[in-house]
Amino acid sequence: MHKKAYILILALALAWVLVMPCPQAQAESGVYYEIFVRAFADSDGDGVGDLRGITQKLDYLADTLGVEGLWLMPTFPSPSYHGYDITDYRAVSPDYGTMDDMTELLEQAHARGMRVLLDLVINHTSWEHPWFLDPEKRDWYHWTDGQDPSVSLERQMWGRPVWNKRGSQWYYAIFWEGMPDLNFDNPAVRQEMKDIATFWLELGVDGFRLDAVSHIYGSGETGSIQDIGASAEWWREFTAHCLSVNPDCILVGEAWEPMDERAQIGEALGSVFHFDLGEEIVNLLRRGGSAEVWLDNLLRRLDMYQQVAGPDFVDAPFLSNHDQDRVAGALRNNIGMGRAAAAMYLLLPGRPFVYYGEEIGMQGAGPDEEKRTPMLWGEEDPQQTSWRESRYNTKTVPVDVQLEDPASLLWAYRGLIGARAAFPALRDGGITAHSSGNPRVAAWRRSTPEQSLLVYINLEATEQQIKVPDRTWRLVWSLEGSLGEARPIAPYGVDIYEKN
Ligand code: CA
Repeated sequence: MHKKAYILILALALAWVLVMPCPQAQAESGVYYEIFVRAFADSDGDGVGDLRGITQKLDYLADTLGVEGLWLMPTFPSPSYHGYDITDYRAVSPDYGTMDDMTELLEQAHARGMRVLLDLVINHTSWEHPWFLDPEKRDWYHWTDGQDPSVSLERQMWGRPVWNKRGSQWYYAIFWEGMPDLNFDNPAVRQEMKDIATFWLELGVDGFRLDAVSHIYGSGETGSIQDIGASAEWWREFTAHCLSVNPDCILVGEAWEPMDERAQIGEALGSVFHFDLGEEIVNLLRRGGSAEVWLDNLLRRLDMYQQVAGPDFVDAPFLSNHDQDRVAGALRNNIGMGRAAAAMYLLLPGRPFVYYGEEIGMQGAGPDEEKRTPMLWGEEDPQQTSWRESRYNTKTVPVDVQLEDPASLLWAYRGLIGARAAFPALRDGGITAHSSGNPRVAAWRRSTPEQSLLVYINLEATEQQIKVPDRTWRLVWSLEGSLGEARPIAPYGVDIYEKN
């Protein structure tokens, strides 16, 4: 770690101890599920997924799979298929249904003890948003006539210019010209965003997945350096506001940044996604290497989060999301590896996020649309969507067939999610290192004052020997095989021991 970063972390940790109240008291740590609404479940036969379709699939989500929360990718009116460029923050996309459909989904989800997070995209709007088209609201965005010496019109991000010409002026848009960035130095913008959060929280939404959180004060906007501190300061203000409306509100940020910057955002929001973890897990399975070394690095990162973001920080582990190649392809569509990969993040502390279709081994890579193809329910399923053809999933076994097969990936997911729900130490316990005595068997200890568990995950396609401390540890859960006395672990097996 850079010395500068280390000093910054120490300073932040000290500041946190001295002045900050808990950002979020989040004991709840069930598994969440990310849904691309267009691709998930269709209620009215037009082939386009919608909110009522999700409501109709709540039994699958809550009972079959056992997830406790949903993250709905953007549900707002938008000119794009994906919705990350919003034109109205207080409405539902007509493709997806009505406000009544949203209310119904919230009620039905809550009746099953599930929470629902909306995807709030406030770094930028659509260029079709009325604010961007309103000459009175020019200072809601970043405009320049090119005379300001602090602005570099040549500035590029991801290979394209961030300043875009319109008339005789330029406006700032970090992702593409159709997504102009909002100006968070404008108090009216800040207030509007807090009002929008209030609107949804009062409707019954349980919180937000927050898009592009590190770009609020982004590169090129305030000089040449991305100002993560200024972005974090805004998110601290936003978090305090959301918690004042609903003290149980859950926020999780997309900060696809180096660890120290992620941790700063995590301090402000209480939770951020654990980018890179999925890639590490895939590499460990595919390329070999020591599980102990991997765990050591993971524990060091979790420790850093605790130091910077505080003891109530909630990690959000995941394998891949809607912006990344699906994990099944990276694992060569190997069901054994898929099971082990699932265990490697579903049995960690925090709030894990499953990307829809991951539990049945859906594949997809390359253009974003290919990572967001129709959930495969089965040919006979009335809620099957068809918004896009997929060249990737012609051989993927759909939900209805996997449900009949206890050896399927879907059964492994429901088993692992069920184990997490059944053992309090897996949900809310701390994590410490434990040596399995075998570099190809990942192992760690999860414990609360009342319960101590040892998790073993076999990263190999062959049975492996493991070391269990002594006979006071009993095998209490296994993805397959007998329980009771210690024994070798099955190929890509998952075994959990509990101390008597
Ligand atoms: Ca529909």
